[in-house]
Amino acid sequence: MKVKALPHNPGPAAWNAILPKQDSLHSLSAQETADWLVIGAGFAGLSAARRLQIEAPNDRIIILEAKGLAEGPAGRNSGFMIDLPHDLTSDDYGGQIDKDRITIAQNRLAIDFARDMVETLHLPSEAFREVGKINAAASEKGLKHNGEYAAHLNNLGEPHAVLDAQEMQEITGISYYQGGLFTPGAVMLQPALYIRSLGAKLPSNRLRIYENSPVVALQRKDGLWQAKTPKGSIRAPKVILAVNGHVENFGQFSRQLVHVFTYASMTRALSSEDCAKLGGHPDWGLTPADPLGTTVRRISGDGGDRIIVRNRFTYEPSMMPSARVQKSVYRTHIQSFAARFPMLKSVAMEYQWGGHLTLSLNNVAAFGEVEDGLFSACCQNGLGTVKGTLHGLAAADLAMGRDNDLIRQLQSAPAPKHLPPEPIATLGAALRLCWGELRAGKEL
Ligand SMILES: Cc1cc2nc3c(=O)[nH]c(=O)nc-3n(C[C@H](O)[C@H](O)[C@H](O)COP(=O)(O)OP(=O)(O)OC[C@H]3O[C@@H](n4cnc5c(N)ncnc54)[C@H](O)[C@@H]3O)c2cc1C
Repeated sequence: MKVKALPHNPGPAAWNAILPKQDSLHSLSAQETADWLVIGAGFAGLSAARRLQIEAPNDRIIILEAKGLAEGPAGRNSGFMIDLPHDLTSDDYGGQIDKDRITIAQNRLAIDFARDMVETLHLPSEAFREVGKINAAASEKGLKHNGEYAAHLNNLGEPHAVLDAQEMQEITGISYYQGGLFTPGAVMLQPALYIRSLGAKLPSNRLRIYENSPVVALQRKDGLWQAKTPKGSIRAPKVILAVNGHVENFGQFSRQLVHVFTYASMTRALSSEDCAKLGGHPDWGLTPADPLGTTVRRISGDGGDRIIVRNRFTYEPSMMPSARVQKSVYRTHIQSFAARFPMLKSVAMEYQWGGHLTLSLNNVAAFGEVEDGLFSACCQNGLGTVKGTLHGLAAADLAMGRDNDLIRQLQSAPAPKHLPPEPIATLGAALRLCWGELRAGKEL
C-alpha cells in the first residue's frame, strides 16, 4: 500500500537550531535487507531499536526517518519527561488511584530505560537532567487545581513540595505565579540533543539509521515486508511502526486517532543584562496548573540562556495547520510571554513552531501487532517523551515474542475509540479547546 501522506512540521525545530551543526546521516539509496525495520526515529523508534540492539545483538536493524533527526515532534517538544499521571484531558492531570499507580510504574520504567541509554551511551548531561518540575499556578483556580493534585499525590504516597508565591519568584525571577507544586521525578530533556545524541551513538555495524528517507509504500510479499523510499527499499520480516499519528497514513487505526498540533516560541539568547534583570535560577521548567495553560522553560546551556513558552492546541485532522492558525497562536505566545516577563520587553522571539501530537478519545495507545509481522508503537496521548519510550520498548519486546507485565497491561487496554463522524468531530474538538482555553484564564 501507498503511504497516504508524509509528515509536515511547521516552523523551525528550534532546539535543534540552537545546537552546533552536525553532519547528516545518510539517506537510503539502495535495496537492503534486515531482520528488523523500524519506521520513525522519535522516542518510540529509537527506544524500540535500542531494545532490539540489546536483546537481539546478532540481528540487523534499520531505522528509516522521513525527515532530519530531531526535526520532527521528538526534537520540537518542551522536554518534560513526566513520571506522574499527566492526563491532558482531565481538569487537574489526575485519574483513578489504581490506574495511576500502574501509570507511574510504567512511566518510571520508561525513564529508567532512557537513563540507562543515557549512561551506557554516554549522552551529554544537558540532554537528560533529573531535576523535577513545577506545576505553576497563576490564579486562584490554578491554586485549587494544584491543591487537588497535591491531595491526589498524597493518596498515591508520591513526594511533592508546595511552593508559595515568594518561592516561585525566587526560582523564576517573575511575580506572575501565586504558587507551585514541585515534583522531583520529572526529567527535563533538551529534546533535540537527546534525539541527535542517540542518533549518533546507536549506529553500529548491525544498526543503521537513514534520515531524510520517508517510507512511501509498505507491502508484504513472500513473507517479507518491503518498504520503499524515494531512492531505495528495505525488506524485513518484522517492522515496527513508530510514526505516532502517521500510523493512519499506513492504513492503520483509521478514524481512531485525534490529530492535534501544539506550538512553542523560543526567545533569542538573553544577554547578561537581560539575565540580571530577570534574576531567578538559570534552569527551570513549569507546566501549567490548568492543562490548557502555558508551559514555560528557562534554559541555559550550549544554546544560550533562553525562555520557551508553549501553549494552544488546535485540532488538525489533515495533520497540517494553516498559516492563519499559526499566526494567531504565535500572537498568543507573545502575549503570554509579555504578561509573565515585563522586565524583558526588548526580548523578541527568535523561533516559533508547531508540532503534531496524537491522542485517542479514551486515552489509550495504538499498540500491538496490527498485521502479521507489523507492530505499532503509536499514539502517545501528548506525552511522547515518556510514552513513546515505553511503547517503543514494549513493541520491540512483543515483536521478539517476549511476555511481560507491560505487554499484558498494554494489550489488555481497549483499542482507541472511533471518532464521531464529521463535521461533529471537528466542531466538538474546536468547542472543547476553545472552552478549555477560555477557562484556563490567567494560566494561558
Ligand atoms: C511544542 C510541543 C511540545 C511538547 N511537549 C511535550 C513535553 O513536554 N513532554 C512530552 O512528553 N511530550 C511533549 N510533546 C509531545 C511529544 O513531542 C510527542 O508525543 C512525541 O514526539 C511522540 O514521540 P513518537 O516517537 O511517538 O513520535 P514522533 O516524535 O512524532 O516521531 C515519529 C517519527 O516518524 C517519522 N515518520 C512519519 N511518517 C514517516 C514515514 N512515512 N517514513 C519515515 N518516517 C516517518 C516522523 O518524521 C517522526 O520523526 C510536545 C509536542 C510539541 C509539538
